Amino acid sequence: MTLLQAHDVHLSFGATPALRGAEISVREGEILAVMGPSGSGKSTLLHCLAGILVPERGEVVFAGRRVDRMGEHERSSLRRDTFGFVFQFGQLVPELNAEENVALPLLLAGVRRTKALAEARTWLDRLGLDGLRLRTSGELSGGQAQRVALARGLVARPRVLFADEPTGALDSLTGEQVMDLLVSSARDEGTTVVLVTHEPRVAAYADREVVVRDGKVLALAPEPIA
Ligand code: ADP
Ligand code: MG
Repeated sequence: MTLLQAHDVHLSFGATPALRGAEISVREGEILAVMGPSGSGKSTLLHCLAGILVPERGEVVFAGRRVDRMGEHERSSLRRDTFGFVFQFGQLVPELNAEENVALPLLLAGVRRTKALAEARTWLDRLGLDGLRLRTSGELSGGQAQRVALARGLVARPRVLFADEPTGALDSLTGEQVMDLLVSSARDEGTTVVLVTHEPRVAAYADREVVVRDGKVLALAPEPIA
C-alpha cells in the first residue's frame, strides 16, 4: 500500500530548478533509497515529502492527505507527530547533551521532561550509547553523534523516518554500524524509511531504490533477462 507520494513536483531556488516534475511513491513499511549525484535534487525532494518545503507545483500526499495544501501549522503538526528526521551531519543542538538532544522531539510533543528523558535513555541504550548520555555533541565522535541523531529521529516512534545521507560524515565501518542500527530499529518498529544517499553500499540496505537526476526521479531499470 502506498503511504506517501509526490506527483509532478516542481520547485526552484531562484533561477535554479531543483525539482522538475518529480514522481515518487513510498510503500508502507518499506525502506526506500533515493540515490543520485550531488545537486540532483535528492534533499529538496525529501524536504517536499516531509512537509518542510512546499512545492511550487504538483502534489504531495501522505495517507490520503494533501501535504502541499496544508497550512504551516498543520504541516508542522504532521512533522512533529508523524515524521522523524536524521540529517547528514546529525545537526545536534550543541548546547544540549546527548540525552536532551534525543528527548527533544518528545518535549516538543508535550511529553513531561522526566518521561522524555527516560525514553531518550532507552534509545541511547538500544544504540549502544548508554555511557555517553551526558556528553554534548562536541564531546562525541562523528559516529557517536550520528547514532544520537538516529535515536532522536526514532524516539517519537515516527510513522515515517526521513534520513538525508545519514552516514555522509562517517567512514565505511562506522557507516555500516549506523545503517545496521537504522534498519533493525525501523524493522522492529514497522517504520517506513526514506533514505537519501549517493553511496551504493548504503542503498544496499534498502528494499528498493530510485534515482534522482536533474530534478526528476528515474525508477531503476529492471535487470535485463538473460
Ligand atoms: P542533492 O541533495 O541531490 O545534492 P539538492 O536538493 O540539495 O540536491 O539541490 C538541488 C539543486 O538545488 C542544486 O542545484 C542546489 O544547488 C540547489 N539548491 C538546493 N537548496 C538550495 C537553496 N537553499 N538555495 C539555493 N539553491 C539551492
Ligand atoms: Mg542533499
